[in-house]
Amino acid sequence: MIDLAAHRLDALVAFHGHFCPGLATGVRVAEAALQALGARAEDEELVAVVETNNGVVDAIQFLVGCTYGKGNLIHQDHGKNVFTIARRSDGKAVRIATKPRAGHDLTPEQEQLVARVRARDATDAERQRFAALWEERGRAILEMPMEELLEIELLDNYALPDCAAIEPSVVCDDCGALVMASRLAAHGDQRLCATCVAEQGHTSLRVTEIGVVENELLPGAAPARARSPRSRVVVHEAYQQGLQGLAPGQTVDVLFVFSEAPAEAPLLQHPRGDSTAPKRGVFALRSPHRPSPIGLTAVEILEVAPEGLVVAGLDAWHGSPVLDIKPHVS
Ligand SMILES: [Zn+2]
Ligand SMILES: [Zn+2]
Repeated sequence: MIDLAAHRLDALVAFHGHFCPGLATGVRVAEAALQALGARAEDEELVAVVETNNGVVDAIQFLVGCTYGKGNLIHQDHGKNVFTIARRSDGKAVRIATKPRAGHDLTPEQEQLVARVRARDATDAERQRFAALWEERGRAILEMPMEELLEIELLDNYALPDCAAIEPSVVCDDCGALVMASRLAAHGDQRLCATCVAEQGHTSLRVTEIGVVENELLPGAAPARARSPRSRVVVHEAYQQGLQGLAPGQTVDVLFVFSEAPAEAPLLQHPRGDSTAPKRGVFALRSPHRPSPIGLTAVEILEVAPEGLVVAGLDAWHGSPVLDIKPHVS
């Protein structure tokens, strides 16, 4: 059984704010992680990827030493009770999931009590009964055999996220807050934080993926600027009605995303990547490396089906998200 003194349970409870079943589960998750991987992370020796935010995460921060502030706690907001803790030195990792606890269901009265407390309309007496119930359930979790509570899987060569970046903080040109340099966005000749960009209306752009390209042009393997003689533009179900009125033989413009293009797009580039040709501005080129990586190609419709089009002459790679289809006007 876990040595509570060694795990500084009192200090953990003070950190979280109260003792509860979630925190107790976290103590056991931390125990399993440290058993598998060794000592607590003083620095970034261990990394935790947590797929939910609850009391378990506070126990992981406190007991395993993977903390939000050090950057070795990564929250993926899936609402899933799955916690993967990995060791940087050798990529060894442990994936810990909480099991449904058979035989530990609440009675209907207890369920009512919990609902009233969560809705914040419990009386003082009810809150006391709730606290006692939660304390009892938490204690039971601390004593349970590990295998009843947790699903534990050891992983080799876990694909570790990069070490936390240490970056300079730069002043946002609008609000003046200090912001991580990589989080500032260029806006005209200003560099702005995300909130200021949003306030200036830049998030009002509304672009939706309406479908996806299927063809033989595989990313990385297809020659640059190859056109496919036959591509399927598969339209997502919600947008299929929009295909009404299109017919074989018609020319349409397909707008798609260069999803494989790198994020940085130099404003001056060699045409067709030919380094012997003088550089030109990106807006004078059809390069996929652009501030808005959108492609536009006029194609001929070969077939119209309820779930999309078959077209000739599309130069989008297999898997490219499609943003729009519209009749071509020369
Ligand atoms: Zn709690
Ligand atoms: Zn700002």
